Amino acid sequence: MKLLSDQTCQAWLSGVEQRLRRFFRDDLFELTRTAERDWWASVIEDGAETAQTISNLLDGAIKCDDGCLEASRQRARRMSINGKQVYAYQLIYWAGNALIPSDDDVVRHKCHNRRCINPVHLTHGTQLENINDTREK
Ligand SMILES: [Zn+2]
Repeated sequence: MKLLSDQTCQAWLSGVEQRLRRFFRDDLFELTRTAERDWWASVIEDGAETAQTISNLLDGAIKCDDGCLEASRQRARRMSINGKQVYAYQLIYWAGNALIPSDDDVVRHKCHNRRCINPVHLTHGTQLENINDTREK
């Protein structure tokens, strides 16, 4: 499965800082505010630092033949950001796209490789879709 070229990933990466700079807490955000959503907003608002973390993750990833970028060889990589543990792919997908997840939102791997952090291989859906992804394998 070839889901990306290096260029697509580079193009995504070069837009990260700008996406994070454009983020603001709109009315909907205020209405649906939770501690979790606040935390994601704060990560996005730490734009320069978060963009650097994302860039370092992608630079350090292992390139696979199928286009996957694996953040680790073992299982999906976790990391600590502002006092909270998240998966590297969650940081890349939500923060890197300046999106704030709700409780039911999950990041899905189009490539079915949970170690992969290639932003082009990630999309979002619900917990139910995620369970179905695993069954399809
Ligand atoms: Zn992948």
